[in-house]
Amino acid sequence: MNETYFQKGFGLKSEVGPLLARTYQSAAVERLKSLGYEAGAGGLHFKLAKEFGFCYGVDRAVDYAYQTRRQFPDRRVFLSGEIIHNPDVNRRLTDMGIEILGDSHDPVERFKTVGSGDVVILPAFGVSVPELNHLKAKQCVLVDTTCGSVLNVWKKVNYYAKDGYTVIIHGKHHHEETRATASQALTHKGGQYLCVRDVAETERVCEFIRGTLSAADLMSTFGEASSADFDPEVHLQRIGLANQTTMLMSETLKVQDTLRRAMIDRHGADNLESRFRAFDTICSATQERQDAVLEMLDAGGLDLMVVIGGYNSSNTQALARMCAPRVTTYYVDSPECVTDAGIQHHLIGTPGESLAPAWLPAGDVRIGVTAGASTPDSVVGETIERILALRGQTAADLTQAADIAQGSQSYA
Ligand code: SF4
Repeated sequence: MNETYFQKGFGLKSEVGPLLARTYQSAAVERLKSLGYEAGAGGLHFKLAKEFGFCYGVDRAVDYAYQTRRQFPDRRVFLSGEIIHNPDVNRRLTDMGIEILGDSHDPVERFKTVGSGDVVILPAFGVSVPELNHLKAKQCVLVDTTCGSVLNVWKKVNYYAKDGYTVIIHGKHHHEETRATASQALTHKGGQYLCVRDVAETERVCEFIRGTLSAADLMSTFGEASSADFDPEVHLQRIGLANQTTMLMSETLKVQDTLRRAMIDRHGADNLESRFRAFDTICSATQERQDAVLEMLDAGGLDLMVVIGGYNSSNTQALARMCAPRVTTYYVDSPECVTDAGIQHHLIGTPGESLAPAWLPAGDVRIGVTAGASTPDSVVGETIERILALRGQTAADLTQAADIAQGSQSYA
């Protein structure tokens, strides 16, 4: 086979499909869905978000990784970093002999163990332009699983940079997707970028735009989050806004609005069109998962939320951030977080995990459940089963329940 760049799998879907189903599906989740996404047993009432877990992009990336292993049984196969941010999925790929490469901003360093003819799988959130070029130059076989929604962001970024707009990315500058997106801006002559993580950072950029913050003070915050020769005096004159696909939608809209108002204050409303462009590039899967959680929270009646996903998963973090101000929330990254000793969970904004021993109150408890786009049903189902086991119940004991928002209900 002479071809060295693959974007559409290897036609092995039907061969890997049964293995993927056995590995990542869950009878407990299927049962809960068949009972209308709400069911209870032993005093525990579960309400599952209508949209949760694996998105189309992750589904495809994982499918292609399994196909790749089958297509190249005798080659060394690498993943340029985690395929998605879920420890269970990454562990299974490692068990199949796929080596996950460590992170480094320097492509030479990152891919130093990879050689000509080796197979490298590129993740759903893509890789940077220098990384892609480096791997091509090394004559690796590339299996590119970059999600179509990420490619769509890149299109917008290219459109801004080509027209001389500095790209402002609402995202985490160290995240692989944001790094890859930022690198697209640099493919154009004079292309520049700056990443803002949240509204507070955006406000700081706006202070500069309005003339109340010096360039030096601005760059003391954004030195690492901007292109190498970024000069605020020159590069914040015309800006185009995009975002990491997995950010919190409400925050993205605020970031957009905050920057728009600053540009109007600085340049006048009449000049806005020539100075400011914006597209919301949150992907539809992220949006649907956030909408489903919002619907659950608005319906009310929950005693607590369990949010399941990798702690470095941006979209899972967004779900936990939506829930935490409104209901007691436990963010867990694996079923093993639930034990007789309590629930091991992560609080956003703090390092590591902590144990909540008395997290499950006695009597009837109404538990909302959701999971990030990189969390397979198997992990969601096993987590639910471990919670049920604390009351001596199994998924088979689940029975259909009245609407959770109607209030407490007993399941003897
Ligand atoms: S979260 Fe969105 S952008 Fe990321 S892989 Fe899934 S569908 Fe694609």
